[in-house]
Amino acid sequence: MQQLLFADQLGPHFDLGGEIILVESLGRLAARPHHWAKAQLILSAIRHRAAESERVHLVRADSYNAYLDGQETEDLVAINPTSYGFRKLIAKHEIKTLPSRGFVIDEADFAAWVAQRKSKRLLLEDFYRDVRRKTGLLMQGADPVGGQWNFDHENREAPPKGAQTISAAEPWQPVEDEIDRQVATDLQRWVQEGKITLVGEPGPRWFAVTRKEALEALQYFVEHRLATFGKYEDAALIQDWAMSHSLLSVPMNLGLLDPLEVARAAEQAYLEGKADIASVEGFIRQVVGWRDYVWQLYWHFGEDYVLNNRLEALEPIPESWLKLDSSAIKANCVSHTIDKVSKRGWLHHIERLMILGNIAMQRGLHPGELNDWFINSFVDGTPWVMPANVIGMSQYADGGKMSTKPYAGGGAYISKMTDYCKGCQFDPKVRVGENACPVTAGYWNFLDKNLEAFRGNHRLAQPLAGLGRLKDLDEIRLQEQQRGTNL
Ligand SMILES: Cc1cc2nc3c(=O)[nH]c(=O)nc-3n(C[C@H](O)[C@H](O)[C@H](O)COP(=O)(O)OP(=O)(O)OC[C@H]3O[C@@H](n4cnc5c(N)ncnc54)[C@H](O)[C@@H]3O)c2cc1C
Ligand code: SF4
Repeated sequence: MQQLLFADQLGPHFDLGGEIILVESLGRLAARPHHWAKAQLILSAIRHRAAESERVHLVRADSYNAYLDGQETEDLVAINPTSYGFRKLIAKHEIKTLPSRGFVIDEADFAAWVAQRKSKRLLLEDFYRDVRRKTGLLMQGADPVGGQWNFDHENREAPPKGAQTISAAEPWQPVEDEIDRQVATDLQRWVQEGKITLVGEPGPRWFAVTRKEALEALQYFVEHRLATFGKYEDAALIQDWAMSHSLLSVPMNLGLLDPLEVARAAEQAYLEGKADIASVEGFIRQVVGWRDYVWQLYWHFGEDYVLNNRLEALEPIPESWLKLDSSAIKANCVSHTIDKVSKRGWLHHIERLMILGNIAMQRGLHPGELNDWFINSFVDGTPWVMPANVIGMSQYADGGKMSTKPYAGGGAYISKMTDYCKGCQFDPKVRVGENACPVTAGYWNFLDKNLEAFRGNHRLAQPLAGLGRLKDLDEIRLQEQQRGTNL
């Protein structure tokens, strides 16, 4: 038996111990314009894995199909892959599969959890508590450690006044080697030959691509940065690209780290007094709560979920986003975040959700196109992670299956939680006029445009009442219509 290993199954928990086939497919890279940093990470990860063991046979093929078409597949086995596309490929070639790995909860157990809720709404909080009970993470018998399940209220501080960074320890960074240099050379050559299109700036590698590096990155985060994770989790600063986030989504999504080992490492740090409960609980909630939850919802909501477009948002993705070119963007918050994506293909959660996601929803960008844009432009973007985050959480395109209200906010929120508004030509407090903030005016315009869809949603009762009191709504409508998606 040979194992067909996918490029997001690179850690020891995916290794069945026999001969391994690993495919490097130029066709997959050529199919869409990837971020430079993402292409770099995937190739580097695959080639490092191949170099690690003589049991791994690296196959260079235009596509998986091109390779598999010429093979006898009855002796192949694969761990269930992570996308509808790859599961169809496996079925087409009649390859034996084993249950998926790399997540905390089995798909069958999640289905049972859903069934047992009957008509009760699916809620992250309930799912997360069950994961804690099941794994014993941060539990004292039947009770949560620290007496409560959730310390979110302690993890929402605005950044310190006037600070350019939160002064967390510098993030871990790998040392590049000959394989990385060859990857960079190949990418440049393929671009010159017109074989692939890449966006974003070529730059150093920021994320772990081997098991050894991933363990180092995990240990470094837990020792040096976990203690400061919680407090400013929802804040953003122009000069502080990583804040105190873990940067572990890449090694986890490459299958180099198992989420449970990541969570256990954080729990151990708490037990050893290295980090407080608010930081540790906040981090563990992300890793075994949110990450597993969006994975489960990918399968639960089904393949067509990405087609949802409840708010009938039809605007194309702006050129400046597609090309990751911040030079013509006037709104400071958008220009800086697009610039950060261009540099590393990575943003932390609140910049993805409350800046790009919020603004995309306000401006009516097409949710399916936005989903693809996030997948192509972000180093940790995968087909499974995006739909619940983009279609559901950030765009409310599913009409409320995932969130009870849209994650929409005006400039006041950005002004409070970031330093983007300082130095911006717009004023977050102004709705109409030359310096009217496109996020503040955009927020009211968004509520107004979707009034029918939101009527009756009691969680929106207060903002809708505020909308009804606006005296300058006509001017806002006209101004934002003229502004379009050109911020
Ligand atoms: C619009 C949008 C797009 C996103 N795209 C991606 C993506 O392409 N890939 C991705 O892994 N995450 C994505 N996320 C979730 C989250 O923003 C990233 O996981 C996180 O920013 C990665 O940085 P980190 O590893 O430093 O995370 P930390 O802040 O250190 O969090 C720890 C871990 O928790 C997990 N996590 C936290 N929130 C989520 C979530 N909502 N969904 C899935 N995992 C979560 C990640 O594995 C992350 O590594 C997206 C969220 C939004 C709102
Ligand atoms: S003023 Fe408005 S557009 Fe400018 S950075 Fe603040 S929120 Fe963004």
